[in-house]
Amino acid sequence: MPPKGRIAVNEMYCKGCELCVNACPQHVIALAADRITAKGYHPAALVKEGCTGCAICSVVCPEAAITVWREAVRRVPA
Ligand code: SF4
Ligand code: SF4
Repeated sequence: MPPKGRIAVNEMYCKGCELCVNACPQHVIALAADRITAKGYHPAALVKEGCTGCAICSVVCPEAAITVWREAVRRVPA
């Protein structure tokens, strides 16, 4: 089973450039068409299940606006 992750986008910094949208290998990020930031941009947001916490979106974001969490996998001794 792939790892589970989630992201948080700091809308104070997001400028709606879509670099994260295009970089996400799971295609789970989109610009939120129904919201506008204080600076006038549609912010990026997680729009569906499937984030693996790979952090590629965070690496490509020029504003360092994305924080990523990945669920830890606990190994059980056999
Ligand atoms: S952490 Fe990876 S899978 Fe999750 S939204 Fe970012 S690029 Fe996509
Ligand atoms: S890459 Fe960063 S600034 Fe660009 S849309 Fe994504 S979160 Fe916003």
